[in-house]
Amino acid sequence: MNLILLGGPGAGKGTQAKKLIDKFQIPQISTGDILRAAVKEGTEMGRKAKEFMDAGKLVPDEVVIGIIKDRLAQPDCKKGFILDGFPRTVPQAEALDKVLMGLGNKIDHVVSIDVDEEALVTRLTGRRTCKNAACGQMFHIKFTPSKKEGVCDKCGTELYQRDDDNEATVRNRLATYNQATAPLIGYYTAKGLVRPIAGVGSIDDIFNKIVGIVSGGHSCACGR
Ligand code: AMP
Repeated sequence: MNLILLGGPGAGKGTQAKKLIDKFQIPQISTGDILRAAVKEGTEMGRKAKEFMDAGKLVPDEVVIGIIKDRLAQPDCKKGFILDGFPRTVPQAEALDKVLMGLGNKIDHVVSIDVDEEALVTRLTGRRTCKNAACGQMFHIKFTPSKKEGVCDKCGTELYQRDDDNEATVRNRLATYNQATAPLIGYYTAKGLVRPIAGVGSIDDIFNKIVGIVSGGHSCACGR
């Protein structure tokens, strides 16, 4: 099962990807997580990427395409993968098609999680994430607060707010999404792969909708 999760920043791609990993035992590939790890390690790629990330802009295509090419060639991707935050531009999607063709593989489903823009701003500015990369559990200060403020319920590690989750950067990220990423809906619709779902309701409701889609259940585009 090779799945792309599409949706604006804060639509819930990462949250859903984490639940899908547990259910299907396939890796989540998040270019955002890979780039943040490079920033933290202080690699040259990380230093270059940070400027774009802090401004809410996209890291150049050739950088993320290189990351994805290496990652998809790893043996754990053979039985499937969940792409979260990639592709984000049409040239990235075209490069992905080429990489997968070279590996004798293809995308099976593109789930587009739709959420209203103002709701995304509220979600992102209140988002807190576990500092332990192996856990990565996410919370929201209003909607899903941790039991103890600033501490992960799952592993007890400190929570942090991402540098790019401030309102000004969030607005830039949304503008970037509308301009560069939204055209991917058309790209994958033309291939008959897009399955839109409403990204509102409980995390479990949304998860069940995705599971229904990837398991070949209800097949119209009504969002159920
Ligand atoms: P995310 O964690 O997916 O919200 O990504 C955080 C930031 O990393 C984005 O705002 C971009 O600056 C950068 N980034 C992540 N994935 C990509 C991508 N596929 N193409 C370009 N930039 C990306």
